[in-house]
Amino acid sequence: MKGKIRLFRKALALVWDSAPGWATVNIVISVLQSILPLALVWLIKLLIDEITNAAQAGTGAANIVPMVIAVVVVYFLDEVCSDSGNFVRSKQSVKLEGYMYNLLHSKAVRLDLINFEHPGYYDCLSRATSEAPWRPNNILNNIVAMFRGMLSLLLMAGLLFTLHWGAAVLLLVVNIPGIWLRLHYADILYHFQREQTPEARKSAYFSWLLTGDRPSREIRLFGLGNYFISLFKKSFNKQKEEELNILRKRTVIELITDVVKASAILVLLLVIARRTVSGDLSLGQMAMFLLAFRQGMTYIKDLFVSVAGLYEDGLYIGDTFEFLDLKESVVANPPVTVPSELKTGIKVDDISFTYPGNDYATLNKVSFEIKKGEIIALVGPNGAGKSTLVRLLTRLYDPDTGSVRWDGNDIKTMDPDQFRLFFSVVFQDFMLYNLPAGENIRMGNIDAPDPDEKIRKAASKSGVHELLNNLPKGYETTIGTLFDDSRELSWGEWQKIALARALFRESPVLILDEPSSALDADTEYEIFSRFREIVNGRTSILITHRFTNVTLADRIIVLEHGSITETGSHEELMKKKGRYWEMFRKQAGRY
Ligand code: ATP
Repeated sequence: MKGKIRLFRKALALVWDSAPGWATVNIVISVLQSILPLALVWLIKLLIDEITNAAQAGTGAANIVPMVIAVVVVYFLDEVCSDSGNFVRSKQSVKLEGYMYNLLHSKAVRLDLINFEHPGYYDCLSRATSEAPWRPNNILNNIVAMFRGMLSLLLMAGLLFTLHWGAAVLLLVVNIPGIWLRLHYADILYHFQREQTPEARKSAYFSWLLTGDRPSREIRLFGLGNYFISLFKKSFNKQKEEELNILRKRTVIELITDVVKASAILVLLLVIARRTVSGDLSLGQMAMFLLAFRQGMTYIKDLFVSVAGLYEDGLYIGDTFEFLDLKESVVANPPVTVPSELKTGIKVDDISFTYPGNDYATLNKVSFEIKKGEIIALVGPNGAGKSTLVRLLTRLYDPDTGSVRWDGNDIKTMDPDQFRLFFSVVFQDFMLYNLPAGENIRMGNIDAPDPDEKIRKAASKSGVHELLNNLPKGYETTIGTLFDDSRELSWGEWQKIALARALFRESPVLILDEPSSALDADTEYEIFSRFREIVNGRTSILITHRFTNVTLADRIIVLEHGSITETGSHEELMKKKGRYWEMFRKQAGRY
């Protein structure tokens, strides 16, 4: 309970922070909404009594008019509150939704990359993104509805008490089974849905395979459509059938509680009718009690629904905070040092790293140095750990043991964002941005002043300038397939853009992970024969399986099964006739 109250407080703070003004208006309107219906019931009683008296005394309708106007005014105000309340709640929801998305997105981009390696992270993310935009507002609305319901209910119960204490008690008691039911099933449904998150993500994945752009070609070529439709159906039905089973059970019990409520109304109607016929109650009182009971039933239902809703909110909002409270461990550890331009070099000292969930180390006690301005080639078979090493060098992950030193300082003491400013990387799985071509290159350094000329220069170096310049709107042409008036490029052309993006960022260290895997022979030759001129004195790491490109490096590091097995220049390694020599000869032998 304590935990839930803490979560509610946190959620309400979010609602307040996102739109304090609208939250206030919402509360004021809600309070008015609880008072006005009671005032209306009271005025209707007075009106009916006034009409009865006037009819019996034959005094005409003159005295009734002010009462009629009062009824209409209160009715009108009640309607205005109801309509404007809807608008205010919508406005507040939109504000909150934007605010929550901002929190979620800021958190997602700050989070340690290692989180993306856990299936549990995706479960947590998917629950948070489906709940965060609306759940805090729901809490506010439920709390407001609960207090409004309590206030109105007390007023209505007080009114019924004047009829008979039993009527007030009846009003409360007959609703208790309903609230118990909702609370009980809120728990069952929450735990069911939580357990279903991996299955829900699975069906969302199958749905993406069937509708997404990337899988569309293979799905058609291999005729996989029906196969994935059946996998989706299986996964979807599995979740929904179980959920429907739970809902079916809840509905059956709900029907029984409805019978209890109907019986209560029957009893009350009989009592009121008898006392009116016997002259114990005036017609106005009769109408007032009937309306009060009906309103009371609605309020108590609203009250119990909001209590049950709050209980449910307490279960679900925890998922949002679970995500927002995930800790970042890739941070500047004390004593903090501020990274500056590389002066001497980078030292990798005995680092080991195991991916979460793996039972083997991807990197095992790896040590080497890179001097400032040196060009290093990193080679080795698939799965040797080359890309993982790049992620550790750029502090996307921290090693389990050992350290990476930047001019002698452990990079763990540096702010990761500041540190990464010194790196430019073409990842093996580089990004395609469905944005204008020039913008795709500018992404390498989004804050660069006067970028146009530099963007063109970078595009020329990667051999893509002519292509982009000749697009219908030149560098302004949107590329990709997602939006109108865009032009799709070939994979190799995208890769040239990724290379241009990395070159546009004039950082002291350049890392290219398989940068030419899709380039045509001419472009590859053109780039690698001018490689030194292109990198222009920057410290560079080139990962490639093409040994012709490896020869241009100052030093070659051979990585196998997560360990360095050889290092040296091309000539030295060829003389050594070790693993490098073997791989080089195998590849060269094919030409
Ligand atoms: P390639 O030449 O194929 O690009 P690589 O040398 O770059 O290979 P890495 O991508 O660093 O190799 O992968 C090294 C090992 O780490 C592989 O055995 C791989 O299965 C494992 N690995 C890579 N990424 C993950 C991950 N996200 N989670 C778990 N294991 C991973």
